[in-house]
Amino acid sequence: LNRRLAEFGTTIFAEMSALALSTGAINLGQGFPDTDGPEEVREAAVRALRDGRGNQYPPGPGVPELRAAIAAHQQRYYGLAYDPDTEVLVTAGATEAIAASLLALVEPGDEVIALEPYYDSYAACIAMAGGRRVPVTLRAHEDEGRFRLDLDELRDAVTDRTRLLLINTPHNPTGTVLTREELAAIAELAVERDLLVVTDEVYEHLVFDEAEHVPLATFPGMRERTVTISSSGKTFSFTGWKVGWVTAAPELVTAVRSAKQYLTYVSAGPFQYAIAEALGLPDSYFDGLRTDLRRKRDLLSDGLRAAGFKVYQPKGTYFITTGITPFGEKDAYAFCRALPQRCGVVAIPNSVFYDDVDAGRGQVRFAFCKKDDVLQEAAVRLRGLA
Ligand code: PMP
Ligand code: GLN
Repeated sequence: LNRRLAEFGTTIFAEMSALALSTGAINLGQGFPDTDGPEEVREAAVRALRDGRGNQYPPGPGVPELRAAIAAHQQRYYGLAYDPDTEVLVTAGATEAIAASLLALVEPGDEVIALEPYYDSYAACIAMAGGRRVPVTLRAHEDEGRFRLDLDELRDAVTDRTRLLLINTPHNPTGTVLTREELAAIAELAVERDLLVVTDEVYEHLVFDEAEHVPLATFPGMRERTVTISSSGKTFSFTGWKVGWVTAAPELVTAVRSAKQYLTYVSAGPFQYAIAEALGLPDSYFDGLRTDLRRKRDLLSDGLRAAGFKVYQPKGTYFITTGITPFGEKDAYAFCRALPQRCGVVAIPNSVFYDDVDAGRGQVRFAFCKKDDVLQEAAVRLRGLA
C-alpha cells in the first residue's frame, strides 16, 4: 500500500460488519436498512434486465431516463433547475461521486476543509487526490443536545491554499442537520473566498421533527460553485445497487465526469432505469420513509437512554451518536470491539472519524434503519451493559 493510503487500512464499516458476522451480534454498526426498498422499484429493475435495457455499457453520464428524473427531483423538492444533458452525472454510488469530485477538482497540495467527524471516504479520497485535509470539528453542545458547527472556526480554517469545502448535511455520524443560517454563512464564506463546494446530501430525505434539508446550491452565488451529491442507497433503501449522482454546473460536471470515466467508465445499467422510476414516486413515499425512520429513531434513542448512554438526538440520517462516558469507558474503539461479547450488539466508534482524537474518543454511533423488533431486542441487550 502506498504512502497516500497507508493510514487508512480497512474501513471501520467492513471491520465492524465482520465482527457482527463472526459473533452473531445485532449489527447496528454499518448503515444499511434490513428491509429493502419498494417492491415496484425492484420490479422495475427486473423489467429492465428482462427487456435488455442497460445490459450493455450504458451512456457514460448515465441513462437519459435517470438523468431526467434526477433533474426533475431537484426541481420538485428544491426549485433547482439542472439540465439533464450537461448538469447531471450518474455515479457508482455517492462513494464514487465523492472520489471523482475530489480527484477532478483538487490539485496536489490543495487544502480541503471537511467537517469532523468526517465520513471515512472523505479522508481517503482527499489523500488519493494529493490534497491536505483540514478538519473543522462539529462540537457537542450539551445544553442543546446536538453537535454544532462553529462558524468562526470554519472561517479561520480557510487559507490561501484552500481549494474546496467538503460539506455533509444531514451529517453522518452526528445526525446534525445544518440550519438555514449555518448554510447561509457557509455560502457567504465560499463566495467571499471563491471556493468550490462539494456537498454530500445523501440523507436529504431523512430529516425529522422541525428540521429541514436545504441544499447548499440554493443559496446566492452557490449554484455555479457547488457539486451536489446524492444516492439512491439512502433515499430508496437500495445500498447494494450503488446508484448515486452529481448535479452541478456544466464545467464542474464535465470535470467530475473526466475522473469518473477512468474509475468505473459507466455505472451499472438496469438499476439506473429502476431508480429513474423511484425518483418519480409520490410524496407519500418520501413522507412515509421519514415517518417510519422517526419512529425507529425514537425507539432506539429511548432504549439507549434507558441503557445509560448519553444520547444526541439526531435530526437527520439513520444514526444516533451517543456518549459512553456514563459507562466509565473512555475509548470508543475498545468499547465497540468488546460490545458484541458484552451484550451482543455491534456499533461504530466515532473516534475513527476524527483527526482530533480526543474530541471523538467517547463517542459511539448506532444505526436505527432496522426492523422494530431488532431495535427492541438491541435495547434489551444494551440494558444488560450496566
Ligand atoms: N456519504 C455518506 C455521508 C454516507 O453515509 C454514505 C453511505 N454510507 C455515502 C456517502 C456512500 O453512499 P453510497 O452507498 O451511495 O456510495
Ligand atoms: N455509509 C454507511 C455508514 O456510514 C456505510 C457505507 C460503507 O460501508 N462504506 O455506515
